[in-house]
Amino acid sequence: MQVPDTQTDDKSAPKISFVSLGCPKALVDSERIITKLRAEGYELSREHAGSDLVIVNTCGFLDSAKAESLDAIGKALNENGKVIVTGCMGAEPENITAAHPGVFAITGPQQYESVLDAVHRAAPPQHNPFLDLVPPEGIKLTPRHYAYLKISEGCNNRCTFCIIPKLRGDLVSRSAADVLREAEKLVKAGVKELLVISQDTSAYGVDLKYAASSWKNANGETREVRAKFVDLADALGDLGVWVRMHYVYPYPHVDDVIPLMADRKILPYLDMPLQHAAPDVLKRMKRPAAQEKSLARIRRWREMCPDITLRSTFIVGFPGETDADFEQLLEWLDEAALDRVGCFKYEPVRGAPANDLGADIVPDEVKEERWHRFMQAQQKISARRLKRKVGTRQQVIIDEAGPTVAKGRSMADAPEIDGNVYVASRRPLRVGEIATVKIERADAYDLHGTAVGY
Ligand code: SF4
Repeated sequence: MQVPDTQTDDKSAPKISFVSLGCPKALVDSERIITKLRAEGYELSREHAGSDLVIVNTCGFLDSAKAESLDAIGKALNENGKVIVTGCMGAEPENITAAHPGVFAITGPQQYESVLDAVHRAAPPQHNPFLDLVPPEGIKLTPRHYAYLKISEGCNNRCTFCIIPKLRGDLVSRSAADVLREAEKLVKAGVKELLVISQDTSAYGVDLKYAASSWKNANGETREVRAKFVDLADALGDLGVWVRMHYVYPYPHVDDVIPLMADRKILPYLDMPLQHAAPDVLKRMKRPAAQEKSLARIRRWREMCPDITLRSTFIVGFPGETDADFEQLLEWLDEAALDRVGCFKYEPVRGAPANDLGADIVPDEVKEERWHRFMQAQQKISARRLKRKVGTRQQVIIDEAGPTVAKGRSMADAPEIDGNVYVASRRPLRVGEIATVKIERADAYDLHGTAVGY
């Protein structure tokens, strides 16, 4: 099926000729891709000749369907030359390249982001701020100076308290180039801090076999970037804004990212949800990287980057958690001396495998008591760690302006979840501005100081 023309007067918009083959599921995929393309201002054309590129959404269900797909690709190559292939046949790219080595890019079924990524490379979108409803950086719900950057969807882990893999499926990573392009747009739009998120950030790119993609930066330099946590962190670090890493599990390769933090390429901050410290509980939770010796790793990270901030979250009252398990958690906490910690009382989410483990349910009053003990223990640790900052100079990004005192965050504080720095200043500070602040006082969660550099 050849997708019909769209009618506008915009002569500058790149034109795409789209061939959709196969079943209704493939048709829905085509519709989704086309919707995104149209939202980005691309035009559709009925003719291959004269278009900027051709997309062929293939079907590989039967041999006859494969032959039809290969014919359609051949026709597009003859009439246009720049062809992106997606759909079921994309799952076996070698069959396509064997017949047509000249195709521009091949992506698999449902890889909408990768198709768009290839389209952007083949024919960059022409954003028209007077016509497009969506600004180039997308629609953001965060303030202008920081933005969340989602690098993957879904998760390959199967933690027993969690239903996210059931809801969102296995890990699907965006290509590094796609992530970087979004990051660059955000930075151009005034974002000063990028918060990298996913379900499992350190697993980024496993599904893509860490494939490299080429990214042209703002200076016009093209560079190959692998879809790998450390490579992406390094490339994001070149954008000249704060880059903060969330949801990082302590797999061994995370060690490679710590030098980037020591060099301030990315923020010296790791948000690493550990959930527990007792081996039996971690085993029942089926936590990723649970076997890694977390205390030894943390010690090493602090040697490599002494001012690294470590944040984590924990669950108390998981089914089968004994008094001894809980005491072990408190001991671990004391030794790890994390900077920031969140704690949740276990709740049996409907559909979570933990409900069927057959382990003893921890009564609510015990959960409550453990939660209080945990929080009290951590509060002392956090306060002790914050106090060490009194007398130091910290870079602070301003979140809220005020007539005499502005509210901001240091490199150690993520928005919403960590503390704040209250900054007195000779002149009013602007939202998004980064000031150097001399820290004069600390309380349980926040710091107070005076701006000494702008
Ligand atoms: S809790 Fe476990 S299964 Fe759920 S999203 Fe996180 S890593 Fe994946």
